[in-house]
Formats: sequence, structure tokens, C-alpha cells
Amino acid sequence: MTRVAESALQILDRVFGYDRFRGAQAEIIDQVVGGGDVLVLMPTGGGKSLCYQIPALIRPGIGVVVSPLIALMQDQVDALRQLGVRAAFLNSSLAPDQARAVEQDMLDGVLDLVYVAPERLMTERFLGLLERVEIALFAIDEAHCVSQWGHDFRPEYIQLGLLQERWPQVPRIALTATADAPTRNEIVTRLSLEGARQFVSSFDRPNIRYRIVEKNGPRQQLLAFLRREHPQDAGIVYCLSRRRVEETAAFLQSHGFSALPYHAGLSADIRREHQARFLREDGLVMVATIAFGMGIDKPDVRFVAHLDLPKSLESYYQETGRAGRDGLPADAWMTYGLGDVVMLRRIIEDSEAEERFKRVEMHKLDGMLGYCETTECRRQVMLNYFGETLDAPCGNCDTCLEPVETWDGTLAARKALSCIHRTGQRFGSAYLADVLLGKDLERIRRFGHDQVSTFGIGKDLSADQWRSVYRQLVAAGLIEVDMEGYGALKLTERSRPLLRGETSIRLRRDPERRKVSGGGRSS
Ligand code: ADP
Ligand code: ZN
Repeated sequence: MTRVAESALQILDRVFGYDRFRGAQAEIIDQVVGGGDVLVLMPTGGGKSLCYQIPALIRPGIGVVVSPLIALMQDQVDALRQLGVRAAFLNSSLAPDQARAVEQDMLDGVLDLVYVAPERLMTERFLGLLERVEIALFAIDEAHCVSQWGHDFRPEYIQLGLLQERWPQVPRIALTATADAPTRNEIVTRLSLEGARQFVSSFDRPNIRYRIVEKNGPRQQLLAFLRREHPQDAGIVYCLSRRRVEETAAFLQSHGFSALPYHAGLSADIRREHQARFLREDGLVMVATIAFGMGIDKPDVRFVAHLDLPKSLESYYQETGRAGRDGLPADAWMTYGLGDVVMLRRIIEDSEAEERFKRVEMHKLDGMLGYCETTECRRQVMLNYFGETLDAPCGNCDTCLEPVETWDGTLAARKALSCIHRTGQRFGSAYLADVLLGKDLERIRRFGHDQVSTFGIGKDLSADQWRSVYRQLVAAGLIEVDMEGYGALKLTERSRPLLRGETSIRLRRDPERRKVSGGGRSS
């Protein structure tokens, strides 16, 4: 072992109280201590912070950490101080005299680490100050913020490339938990990290079993899932709205589960109490909005269930990643239907965000939808999204365990598409299925759709099957959900070749819907 590695290990033990490094930590630290640049891609919770904190303690001078998360700086600095590390932060939440005191400490050389917001770092005044102190390293946290195409883009991040010009001899370490291959390349170029060693940890969580079921009475489906597979286990159930959280928690309680609600509408006291109980008690089910989970480190969460579709694969990965931290088998289980897509699109559409962000969000939602409708190994699809390849199907997701049958859906898809066309591109999948099935409904007669040529031409499939066809056509980009038309389905350019009979399409056959009450043991 080198002397450097020894002292890193000693610091790990003495300061942080851990006895060994995780994954690539030791190698990364070695590289930075030796003065080299690195780019670190590690999933959240992987242990990125130590990769710059320990080198900052070993190398002479102060470690300068750039972070866009002002809200988290205080917590990080408090935690470090409790460990005896001399840390401080500089951002807009400080009063001018507090900021001046931190700057003086920097000049006096009495700090190991300073966390700075990027907009402050890049001021000429602060750069001038940095000229007068010894710098151990620059750490650029959340490095994906430099990507113009990403959702977290920060214009100030672009200027961070200047650090290399001004301090070429100071090692730089860029870190992120979210970067697909194009984003990674963008980080390298914009931050002048061409010479940096890249450390890419796998995002795979092999002990998590991914499954998705068609949404059909989600609460009953959840109940059946819990009774069958997790009658006594701790887990998290995610719902989109506060109301749904409350209702679902009450529903589970009435069926004998210890379940608690958690969402931003509850008082801080209640939230704290529920969170503490979740961490302390065995077998508690937390029913929550995405407000719950940041920084929750409970190793034995046996399942994460989604009653509503997350808005992106990144969110899905983060949320399901809270299951099975102990490495033992755990479940990621979700119910999903086209209604979720319509709902999320509406939320995006109605938000105050800029057009550019909305487009990115829509794009991410498409990725999520593709994951739901895939006929391939879900883990392969997910890891691929994060720029990683898994050579063989995983054997631990629903499509691996029960391979999806596919069928020639060309004719069905053509009927489904022309039904949209004939009814004026103004309706959702439930109505369209009714027309295809030739249902005798007042609403259909009122619109005169009992007279269109697609009325009753789809009796060979069930309503469920038609809905599945529509979902898959949306996922494949042949149909889009029109938000101006209140979630109506519309044809896209890409549907034309199929309508003209020039191409064919294979569709997945969704497993026959199981009766919720039957199937498996009940408790
Ligand atoms: P990230 O920034 O990648 O999300 P953190 O740096 O916050 O992750 O680390 C996540 C958790 O793992 C923290 O509680 C941290 O103390 C812990 N941790 C990091 N490295 C080690 C290690 N080598 N041994 C044990 N725990 C570690
Ligand atoms: Zn698989």
C-alpha cells in the first residue's frame, strides 16, 4: 500500500468512522491526491462526497466545492463540523458580515473545505481572493448542470471551464449521479476534462426485481400484492397527489397494515414523526408523495410500489433505489395505465416552466413510457438509458421471468389509428375502444360515431386489449396525447406508413388480467 492510500484510509477511519472504502473511492482519492483530474459518475448514495473531502484533508490548502444546491450546503457543512472538519459555505443566504468572516478564514488558511455557489465563485472578486490562498482542489458537484440539454442546466456552470486556465496545476474532480453518454461528453468538453480519468460506477441494483402491471383498480392490486408478497415488510408506496396518499394510507390501515401518510401538506412535526417511525419500527408502510425519501437511509425497505407513473426514468430509478439497500431481494412494483401519461402531460403542460424545459420533460416522460411498454429486459432498458450496457437479460424483472409474447398487431393498429382519424382526433382511448367494439352508447350516437366506418370493427379484441394497443402506439410515437384537446389521442407523422399499409408492427400481448381476489395466498 502506498503512503497516500494509508493516510486516506486513516482519515476514513479517524474522521468519518468507516473501516473500508466503497467501490472506486480509494482509486479516485488516490488520483486526486496525486494531482490528477477525475470525472466521477456514481449513483446517489454511492459515496461521492468522500471522494473530494478526503483529498481536501490530505492535500495542503483548501478544497473548493462548487455546488448548485444551496439548501443542502448548510447541512453538509454542519455534518462536517461535527466530525471536526473545518468547513464553511458561501452563498446568498449569508449576511455580508458572515460572508466576510468566511473569506477571512480562507485567507488565514484555517479552513479545509469551502462550499460555494457557482455564481459567487465566478465573480472576479472571489476569483481574486482565490489567487491569494492555497487551493487543494476544485470539486464540481452536480456536474451535469453544465449540460445545456439537461433539465438542471446552470449557465454559470459553463464558465467553470475557466478554472483550468487559471489554476492548471490544481486537480479538479467533477461529480454527478445523472449523466448519459452525451451528457458525459458535454461535461468533459465544457469543463476541459479531456485529460481526466473517468470513474463510472454501475447503476445496476441486481437485487431489485422490477415489475409493472396494467392499472386496474390500483388500490386492490396493491393490497393483493402486499398480502401475497409483503404482509409484514417495510416499504414505500408512492402516489402522485396528496389526496391519493391520504386515501391509500387509510385504505391500507383499514385492511390491517400499519401504514402512514407523508406529503408536503402535513405539518413539519407530523412528517418528522412519521419518518422517525418508519426508520424505527418494523414492517411499516409509508404511503407518500415524492416529498418523501431524500436522504432516507433505511437498509431493509423490502418494496417500493408506485400507484402512479413517475415523470422520468431518473425519478423512477431514484425512488425504487430506496428498496433493498441491504442487498437482499426487494421489489419495485408499479401499476400503470395511459391515464397516467395524460395526467403527467397535463402537469407538464400547465407548469410555469419555459418551453424548452417542458420539451425536455415531455421527452423524459417518453423514455419512461418506453420502459413501461418494452418487451425486452427492463433492467437492460433502464441501464441503457443511463448509458450503461448489460450484456444479457437480467433474469430478475417481469419481462425476463415471464417473457412477453408478441403478436402481429398491424391490422389492429391500423383499425386503432383509423378510428382516431374517423372520430376527429378528439377522444381518449376508452371512448375509442367503445367505438371499435360497437358499443350501443348514447354518447357515441350523439356524436354520430355509430355511423363511422370503424364502428364495431374491433370486436375481435377486448376493451383492455384495445387500451393496450393504444398505449403501445403512444409509446412507439405513432400517436400523441394532445393536451390542447384535453388528452385526446392524435395521429403523428409516423403513423402514416402503417396506415398506408407500408409497414407492419409487432405488439406485446399483455398478460390476461388476473382476478384481483384470486391468485396466491391471502393473509
Ligand atoms: P452521494 O453524494 O454519492 O449521493 P454520499 O457521499 O452522500 O453519497 O454518501 C452516501 C452515504 O454513504 C453517506 O451516509 C456516507 O457517509 C456513506 N458512505 C460513503 N462512503 C462510505 C464508506 N466507504 N463506508 C461506509 N459508508 C460510506
Ligand atoms: Zn430482466
